[in-house]
Amino acid sequence: MSKKVYISGAIAHYDLEERKAAFSAAATHLRAQGYEPMNPFENGLPQPGDWREHMRVDIDMLLECQYIYMLKGWWVSKGAKLELDVATSCGLKPMFEEDDVHNEEHKCCICGKTFYGYGNDPYPVKEEGECCESCHWDVVLKERFRLAKEKNQV
Ligand SMILES: [Zn+2]
Repeated sequence: MSKKVYISGAIAHYDLEERKAAFSAAATHLRAQGYEPMNPFENGLPQPGDWREHMRVDIDMLLECQYIYMLKGWWVSKGAKLELDVATSCGLKPMFEEDDVHNEEHKCCICGKTFYGYGNDPYPVKEEGECCESCHWDVVLKERFRLAKEKNQV
């Protein structure tokens, strides 16, 4: 089964190029997770254009999808609110970019491996970055423990 997801977010009153970048970054992210993203910037109409005209085409596109993905800040947009309303009324499953930040891919600054979710503070092994769970236990905590012991011996 295809997992089509419509990307929704504020467009009007923002820098158009910045918005285009935000929508296409979301599309890339969703594609990497196995979804088929539908980007309203690719609805074939000129941007910016007639709002009603856009809504009509966008809602059509939306109703082909099983999911709707709400970009951060969607709540300021009349169009995005409306799309979320239509989507949930028609049984689409909403997803929110804010929730997704927690599932983002990170690179461990100690072992270089990729991990998901919250990273750990690598201090004192590294001053910056985030480390994975196993480095946290095997490297960072051991180092903190060693330093604490050293301090006590002085
Ligand atoms: Zn690691």
